[in-house]
Amino acid sequence: MKVTRIAYSAALNPGKYAALAEQARRLGRVRSEVWQRYGSINGVGSGLRDRQVRDRWMAEGTHVQFGVSANAWKETVRDAIGDIAASLEAAKVQVRRAITRRTDDPAERKRMFTALKADRWASDPFLARQIRRYWKRGRNHTHDQIVVRADKHNTVTDGRGRLSLAVPGLERRMMVKIPLSTTVAPAGTLRLILRGGRVEVHYQIDAARIRSSQRPCGNQTLGVDKGYTEALTDSDGQPHGTRLGELLTSESDQLKERNRRRAKLRSIANTAAARGDQAKAHRIARNNLGTVKRDRQAARHRARVRTEIFTAVHEVVDKAATVVAEDLTKRFAGRKKLGRNINRRLAAWTKGVTAEALRNVSERRGSALVPVNAAYTSQTCHRCGAFGRRSGDRFHCTRCGVVWQADVNAAINILHRAGDPDIALHTPHQRVKQILQDRTDRHRTRLPVQDSSPATTAERRANYPNRSAVSN
Ligand SMILES: [Zn+2]
Repeated sequence: MKVTRIAYSAALNPGKYAALAEQARRLGRVRSEVWQRYGSINGVGSGLRDRQVRDRWMAEGTHVQFGVSANAWKETVRDAIGDIAASLEAAKVQVRRAITRRTDDPAERKRMFTALKADRWASDPFLARQIRRYWKRGRNHTHDQIVVRADKHNTVTDGRGRLSLAVPGLERRMMVKIPLSTTVAPAGTLRLILRGGRVEVHYQIDAARIRSSQRPCGNQTLGVDKGYTEALTDSDGQPHGTRLGELLTSESDQLKERNRRRAKLRSIANTAAARGDQAKAHRIARNNLGTVKRDRQAARHRARVRTEIFTAVHEVVDKAATVVAEDLTKRFAGRKKLGRNINRRLAAWTKGVTAEALRNVSERRGSALVPVNAAYTSQTCHRCGAFGRRSGDRFHCTRCGVVWQADVNAAINILHRAGDPDIALHTPHQRVKQILQDRTDRHRTRLPVQDSSPATTAERRANYPNRSAVSN
């Protein structure tokens, strides 16, 4: 498995930055051209490869208009084709679901899955229709990136051990030297992202190579529940990443306040422009509505949240050899619909980071990650299985008459899901509810309520402080 590492430029002079930004802007036009011409069923969808696109452009002379080096545009074509292919793969997830819904016949399903995988759907009306439905025509939004092939860059160390990275510029045979803030040389194919006057150098390293230097994992089996105030709560009752809620709330408040102020300034600028005071409108746009500072602050905040979440996952893996968690990769398709609601956008993004952290840290430190179906794990009591009421961080089971700490209750339920004989990863929501209801109904007719059974350690921790037992 590959892990992405990021190196940052240190005190890069504005002239060099501007030159790189111009190169990235021109390469953005290359990307747009690729999306425009091949980002649909007739392009990459029909199996077109980047080499064919390159040959075609060379023959047509398309590449001349971009004003960049041959290597730069060719790598960019490859990258853009990769992006288009990824967007198609994402759509295929939906199409696979549609196939499952359409037929129960195993042979027919297999035929369609195979055709889908091999990009041979054009001749099948049902598949072609589904692809058209779920693969919306995209367009390029990337105008700030430069992809540099492994043999086109090098690093130099100065006398004081500081590293700088040399990459090709717009002038032939002129390299641009970027001082880096790290002492580890980036290797392999590089992706330079230009953001707010700083260059981010993204590169990938083999996870296996760094595993030996990591702390070993623990030996327990733990369930974890992801949350908003804490990044994770484990089934032992321990919270991890407790500053997450604070970070997210302050970010959300700041964003709302800033957006409000920007809207006001924008309306002042518009009024000025309507009055004919172009100078004022221009001044506001330049001095008050810029994006450099805003984007830099956003990047800094994202880095803080990532650190909090990764630290939380490391703490869990310190204890556990097996981590049981909700399958967080499942509902990402709907992310686009979140629109302008800042809280929901932040929550969705946080969820993605948590999924990434669980996957990467487990892979690197050698623990197993077991994804489970988490339906109703926060709405049922882990002791008796009955549906209860959640309010804030308390979960109230009317059956047991006990108030649990809600996240701990959920984490224990998630842990139990790993060994559940009836509820599999993809068992539908409704079916899970039915199974859980059947179980509690059986329970009710056979067993008296067991309030006097000795609580386990985890249960004692799950007890909500100071209001653990409510009389039955
Ligand atoms: Zn209960």
